[in-house]
Amino acid sequence: MKILVTGGTGYIGSHTCVQLIEKGWQPVIIDSLVNSKISVLDRIQQITGTRPTFIEGDVRNADLLQKVLTEHAIEAVIHFAGLKSVGESVNLPLKYYDNNVHGSVVLIQAMKQCHVKTLVFSSSATVYGDASEPPWNEQVPTAPTNPYGQSKLMVDQIMADVSISDAAWSMTSLRYFNPVGAHPSGLMGEDPQGVPNNLMPFLAQVAVGRREALQVFGNDYPTPDGTGVRDYIHVTDLASGHVAALGYAHGRSGHFIFNLGSGQGISVLQMHHAFSAACGRALPFVLSPRRPGDIAAYWADPEHAQRTFNWEAKKSIDDMCQDTWRWQSQNPNGYP
Ligand code: NAD
Ligand code: UDP
Repeated sequence: MKILVTGGTGYIGSHTCVQLIEKGWQPVIIDSLVNSKISVLDRIQQITGTRPTFIEGDVRNADLLQKVLTEHAIEAVIHFAGLKSVGESVNLPLKYYDNNVHGSVVLIQAMKQCHVKTLVFSSSATVYGDASEPPWNEQVPTAPTNPYGQSKLMVDQIMADVSISDAAWSMTSLRYFNPVGAHPSGLMGEDPQGVPNNLMPFLAQVAVGRREALQVFGNDYPTPDGTGVRDYIHVTDLASGHVAALGYAHGRSGHFIFNLGSGQGISVLQMHHAFSAACGRALPFVLSPRRPGDIAAYWADPEHAQRTFNWEAKKSIDDMCQDTWRWQSQNPNGYP
């Protein structure tokens, strides 16, 4: 199967391309490189022996999309391309709605034009409201609190509406919890530009000496150790979730929504402890005030994916930290 992978040189997209190739499918990547580097392709080739076809371009370019869908005889699309900084989305909402919502509409229109009707989309647990007790299943009421989360929910809704309008569509929204970790080879991983917003890449940069100390945002939450609890999922488990979801959805009609998470809640201090063990020294940290907008604790109920296409996250917190450490220590400044 030939699969168009938008955002395929990004963090999750690149790991998914590796597994698509390993499955015998052919990824064709389109990426504007706004948040990734072309050298990712060398790493995919090093790991798999295959260099995926790459087209540099923006998903908002309808003509380009139609050309790529047709010329490469694409059968399905996995749509990762989008912007993902919650804080930036609050300050620049139009940029997020344009990239994430408008970009998805242009893509779906081009797919319709070219009769490609299988789409798997990167949605997010940020679409859920925080009123429900974890674990969160797919029935938890949605109530995003920022433009980034809104943009994901809008695309989920557009996919639902389009699939109702025409039974030929197979639409799948995958709601990721907290993707972390790196390819076990140490060749691919997360490479954020500037100061990382997220816990894992920040810890990794403390470990290689690029940052002085981790700030632990709040230790007075109603959680076992007082720090925030999240559901971390290894990026290779997430990648295998895409392969399994696509295998299930292709040829089936409708709009499907699945949580992809580990089902386990891990605190900031537990993660700090595991990363310190992985890199072999106690990493410095300071207790800081809560980060505005954060909630105390949530994790996934991933049973729907498990029951439907027999997928579950297999890797442990120690795997996540060891693999991140291997990637960061071998590539202290990220991709060349
Ligand atoms: P990433 O930034 O590493 O990858 C996204 C890729 O899309 C980048 O390579 C970027 O250059 C490209 N891109 C962005 N806008 C584009 C456009 N208009 N046209 C073409 N290419 C474009 O991010 P990621 O962590 O790999 O996330 C992939 C997807 O998963 C995103 O849609 C993100 O919102 C979603 N997601 C991520 C997380 C997370 O924590 N990483 C959680 C939930 C959902
Ligand atoms: N966090 C932290 N220090 C950091 C970054 C994050 O203590 O430098 C905490 C954050 O408050 C939350 C958890 O780590 O409890 C996960 O945050 P992240 O930004 O990685 O993901 P989120 O779940 O907020 O999207």
